[in-house]
Amino acid sequence: MLQTFIHPSLGEITISSTRRARRISVSVRSGGRIRCSLPPWIPTKRAIEFIEENKDKIEQARQRIAAHYPNAERQEPDRREIEQLRQRAKNFLPAKVEELSRKTGLRCGKVSVRAARSRWGSCSTRNDISLSLFLMRLPEELIEFVIIHELCHTIHKNHSEKFHRLLDHHVGGREKELNAKLRKYRAL
Ligand SMILES: [Zn+2]
Repeated sequence: MLQTFIHPSLGEITISSTRRARRISVSVRSGGRIRCSLPPWIPTKRAIEFIEENKDKIEQARQRIAAHYPNAERQEPDRREIEQLRQRAKNFLPAKVEELSRKTGLRCGKVSVRAARSRWGSCSTRNDISLSLFLMRLPEELIEFVIIHELCHTIHKNHSEKFHRLLDHHVGGREKELNAKLRKYRAL
């Protein structure tokens, strides 16, 4: 059974009573919507109390999700936004590749910017690097991390141990940390 409840600070919450639930639990969907599940033997009133007791935690979870998925509510970024990102990307990314190429001593071929959603970047057999314009939504340290990753592919065309050692070296031993951060973003 589904019920909607309007919380004074959290807004609309869907409360779902289901046999599959063993206890009260609250989840925040990628669009920021909040859903509360509870087993049928627990009264809705108790769920509302539970939400009230945990409202700070729920709000924090919602903010974390909003930070990671800035456009989760929209299915697609609109064309205008893509064009703006493309302009910013074209001004920023090739210059950044050049800067990092000089810093690391890893040389590459042509750099192109694409509206790729499935991956942040790629490196061809001819060492041409292609970067997603959606990188522009990432913090600069992650943009640099993606570029250095692709530059390391000019030496190793795989994700072998040697590749990771080289990458880790060029990011000051922070590969794991940066990878974990990058995983929180999607190429929306
Ligand atoms: Zn790779």
